[in-house]
Amino acid sequence: MAFTLPALPYAPDALAPTISAETLAVHHGKHHATYVKKLNELVKGTEFATMALDELITKAPTGKIFNNAAQHWNHSFYWRSMSPTGGGKPTGALAASMTASFGSVAEGIKQLTAAATNHFGSGWTWLVTDKRGALSVMETADAGLPQTSKKIPLLTIDVWEHAYYIDRRNDRAAYVKGFLANLVNWQFAADNLAMATAK
Ligand code: ZN
Repeated sequence: MAFTLPALPYAPDALAPTISAETLAVHHGKHHATYVKKLNELVKGTEFATMALDELITKAPTGKIFNNAAQHWNHSFYWRSMSPTGGGKPTGALAASMTASFGSVAEGIKQLTAAATNHFGSGWTWLVTDKRGALSVMETADAGLPQTSKKIPLLTIDVWEHAYYIDRRNDRAAYVKGFLANLVNWQFAADNLAMATAK
């Protein structure tokens, strides 16, 4: 079965004005779609053609197949890391884990903000956990993802320029600030934490 582009979990204009419909049209409809198209071309006739994406990203060697598969995985996860009703503060078990891991929720958000704003070049900033619920902030370059370092992703911020250039030009700090203030889907992160730490 070929890999397919997932539909956005909200209307294309639902994240505006923080992220415009034009940015989503290009980011989802062109960039993400191209990773999926290239992945399908690259895996044709290989052992990866019938592999589930979750398995493929941990088994593909460094190179084109990994890069396109990981970018497909990362973007699918990124769309769900945002919500039109996002923002605010984490609550419940996620807030408790952030306090235990960072000292406070505010410190965890501060570390996420700093990592995403200052990451050099293209890549991704993540809130990750281990199986015991110890949270940390992680940066990956290019198509990199936490699973290859045995970490479990809870939430991601795409810091490739294509995520913000139409709306913010070179001002990545404004994009990161808007993401965390208005869009971040803490419920998605909380659900991922619950699954990751389930016995
Ligand atoms: Zn992207």
